[in-house]
Amino acid sequence: MTVETVNPWTGQVEYRYAYFDATETEARLAAAAKAFPAWSALSFAERAAYLERVAALLREHSGRIASIMTAEMGKLRREALAEVEKSAGCCEFYARQAEAYMRDEPVATDASRSFVAYEPIGCVFAVMPWNFPVWQVFRFLAPGLMAGNVALLKHATNVPRCADAIAEVLALAGVPEGVFGVLHIDNDTAARVIADPRVQAVTLTGSERAGKSVAATAGANLKKSVMELGGSDPFVVLDDADLDKAVPIAIASRFGNAGQTCIAAKRFILTPGIADEFVARFTAAASALAVGDPNHEASTLAPMVRSDSRDQLHAQVEASVRAGAKVLLGGAKGAGPCEYPATILDGVAPGMAAYSDELFGPVASIIRAKDADDAVRIANDTAFGLGASVWTRDTAKGEAVARRIQAGAVFVNALVRSDVRLPFGGTKASGFGRELAEHGIHEFMNIKTVYVD
Ligand code: NDP
Repeated sequence: MTVETVNPWTGQVEYRYAYFDATETEARLAAAAKAFPAWSALSFAERAAYLERVAALLREHSGRIASIMTAEMGKLRREALAEVEKSAGCCEFYARQAEAYMRDEPVATDASRSFVAYEPIGCVFAVMPWNFPVWQVFRFLAPGLMAGNVALLKHATNVPRCADAIAEVLALAGVPEGVFGVLHIDNDTAARVIADPRVQAVTLTGSERAGKSVAATAGANLKKSVMELGGSDPFVVLDDADLDKAVPIAIASRFGNAGQTCIAAKRFILTPGIADEFVARFTAAASALAVGDPNHEASTLAPMVRSDSRDQLHAQVEASVRAGAKVLLGGAKGAGPCEYPATILDGVAPGMAAYSDELFGPVASIIRAKDADDAVRIANDTAFGLGASVWTRDTAKGEAVARRIQAGAVFVNALVRSDVRLPFGGTKASGFGRELAEHGIHEFMNIKTVYVD
């Protein structure tokens, strides 16, 4: 079957390619299985040398990779370049840190010696999304390769050249054949890959719908899985917040990457003493954003990824307005095929799509709370539990609120972001398992007990 990708800014067909047939898919599976014994037998220093080369090559090719990202999914060029740099840093971090994360851990028991050893498991199959098409791949790949695993990637259908560019960089770095393979396949073939005995585990970043389907297939085949799904992160602003700091971060969090970020702040929950001032300053700052050619340095807001995603977001806005939300900014489709302006909805309340659903685009929901306790209640009044932030000059209070919010990560007075040194993942409908840090690298390892009497 031939697939066409469409440039979100121009609306023109960008690229045509065919899904793999059964022979090509089989060849990639066989290559991964063949590569694993030798790759996992290398020393950490040997694997690290490959990863350091990958980092250097990512930087050398960053301009070209960024152009592919922008053409395929519309990301602003400066955001694309920053993403490539972050991916290079991730390779370097694991090249230098993985050995320490995987050291044997002695445990005192009745044995003369007992310890925990961390061993690679084999081939990890990754199903990845288009919104951070390079970073999300390296987030699983760098720790996985350093752990001694090999990997197969099924990237989102609309970013095939990003997937190929990553494979090219690894090949240029001399990473042996089969250690990383790209599968251009549809979702039915992905299910067969999950079931294949040469695949040991699955990691997915994407929607709840994709997560349910892939986790079910993994479960049916008794394969370990990590699910990094959607979010509707609260941005809780308490009366004593520093708005000089909070407002620019609110703008960056909600409108960066055209709002298509799982850990973007989506629900702005405000206490009465600060709500009006926050809304005035946030709206003024957001009104300066304009959708433009993502290749132009001056553009401040990217187009969305696809016209159907844009239309779905607009339908959520319209439904919320019909239910009583007030449009403070934006709220109408732009002229381009994937254009949607920075939009702010005030008076968002239970029963509205903007309250309960994930808005995966540049739309902010303002929810007014009665007091700080009410703000925490609202923050937790969601099916999701990925990230959250709390804004207050009293950091002890911020920490106390952080402990009460049901999420995989809570940041006090800071932008919610992934950091290679900290675990990343969700609770509730945002998924399970962790990526990054020591916790992430251990997800796809045999955590082996050795007991010597
Ligand atoms: P999807 O979740 O559908 O896509 C993510 C990845 O999962 C893609 O590689 C996709 O492949 C794959 N996939 C989807 N269904 C299956 C399946 N049954 N079996 C195997 N693989 C599957 O993202 P969409 O583009 O459809 O986005 C829709 C919504 O997903 C967004 O509005 C947002 O809510 C959420 N989302 C969340 C992300 C996050 O970072 N947490 C990232 C992207 C989306 P293919 O492209 O071939 O369908």
